[in-house]
Amino acid sequence: MRVFALVLILITGTLNSQIFNVDTVVNKGRFSNRLNIVYLGDGYTKNDLMKFQSDIIQLSSAFVSFEPFSHYKDFINIIRVDVISEESGVSHEQLFTETDCLNTPVMKVKNYFGTKFDAGSVHRLLGPYNYSNIFNVLTNNTPDYDLAFIVANTNYYGGSGGMFPTTSMNSGASAVLVHEFGHGFAGLGDEYSYPGSTPRETPNTTKEIRRDSIRWNHWINPATPVPTPDSGAYYGLIGLFEGAAYSPKGWYRPKYNCLMRSNGVPFCEVCAESLLMRLFDLVNPVDKYFPDSLKLDLSKKITFNLKLIKPQPNTIKVDWVLDNISIAKNIDSVIINDNLSAGKHILSASVIDTTLLIKMPAHFTKHISIVKWEINVFKSNIEINSEENRLKIQIIPNPIEEFSIIEYKLEKAGYIKLEIIDMEGRIKVLDEGFKEEGLHKYMLNSELKELIRGNYIINFESDGMNFPINVVKL
Ligand SMILES: [Zn+2]
Ligand SMILES: [Zn+2]
Repeated sequence: MRVFALVLILITGTLNSQIFNVDTVVNKGRFSNRLNIVYLGDGYTKNDLMKFQSDIIQLSSAFVSFEPFSHYKDFINIIRVDVISEESGVSHEQLFTETDCLNTPVMKVKNYFGTKFDAGSVHRLLGPYNYSNIFNVLTNNTPDYDLAFIVANTNYYGGSGGMFPTTSMNSGASAVLVHEFGHGFAGLGDEYSYPGSTPRETPNTTKEIRRDSIRWNHWINPATPVPTPDSGAYYGLIGLFEGAAYSPKGWYRPKYNCLMRSNGVPFCEVCAESLLMRLFDLVNPVDKYFPDSLKLDLSKKITFNLKLIKPQPNTIKVDWVLDNISIAKNIDSVIINDNLSAGKHILSASVIDTTLLIKMPAHFTKHISIVKWEINVFKSNIEINSEENRLKIQIIPNPIEEFSIIEYKLEKAGYIKLEIIDMEGRIKVLDEGFKEEGLHKYMLNSELKELIRGNYIINFESDGMNFPINVVKL
């Protein structure tokens, strides 16, 4: 009993010490259907909290001013956690001889996450070291986060990607932050050259030069040569430009310039598309719908309503279909008259964002939301029931590495088939059969060992619909 009490005190003690003031700086709606970005400060003491709050206002308003987020402000919540450090600033050991390193003062700072310069043998790599503190702060304060940034209380230039993208408060901070967001959120690669780093396949870097196998081929005009010559005529187009993923030769990027290559320019079309694909994996533009279920008498008219999260400008298309006949398009609600015949009727609303920023075919199967109402007209009353079909499937990580997990969510029990198809069209069935409603995971481990490097399609079939996803084996 005494041991138990002691353990309880210890746990409570730890929890208490890691609970901080949390403020939803930008609140666009329920956390379960938004991209939730959390900012954790490091190197801010109690006296620095006012500065931290204004730093976050500055960073987050800069963040949503970047394309493509500027069109998707209503999809994003921003949360600030006032983590209090013992001392101000970040550590710097001055391990290198480059100018930036020599100009940044040597400091040893007791901050909360151990954030310091000179990480990974590069001065400007500024990153946290105490991951268990990060996990504890997130778990105890904002468990619903999708991506957490570390904001380091220093004005010297630096930042890093990875699980917890980190930025300083240097004047270039917001561009660094958005660049690091690209790594952390969509797995984007660096499009610049940097000696000593290992290149790898990512959504926007490749060594593939066969046109049909290039991951972003759907953006390349057939008239554009691949690899694409380094000539002004092609700088505004998507192609295959040499020099990417830290390597000046033999690795390629989609566009002459992009925020994943240098600060001060926008994301290229391929990077913007990858970011939006991830956004739509997380956020369903159908935030709510009405009615859910309802009984009413025959004489009433019924209003069916969608509450949508809309981009600006609004590129969401809605298709209302009653008993297989299109009755309305691109409106949020329809009114059904009281003249429905006795029996069962089906009303559906299909919702998809048709933004020109996404051309990937998988978007139009993966990210379509279909709300279905079953309307039963009886002698003296009407009964309405509803359901929503939106497939949630993701492959983590992709590009697939040592092992990957395919995760999918079924809104209702049913037959599924999961298969992997190579570029020659050979199909291997991974899983097939009846599955209960809810979340399912398929480990891709043993199959992965047999796969040679290259591009594959993982096709998920559910309820007679196909959801193909492009994957890459490195
Ligand atoms: Zn340094
Ligand atoms: Zn790019």
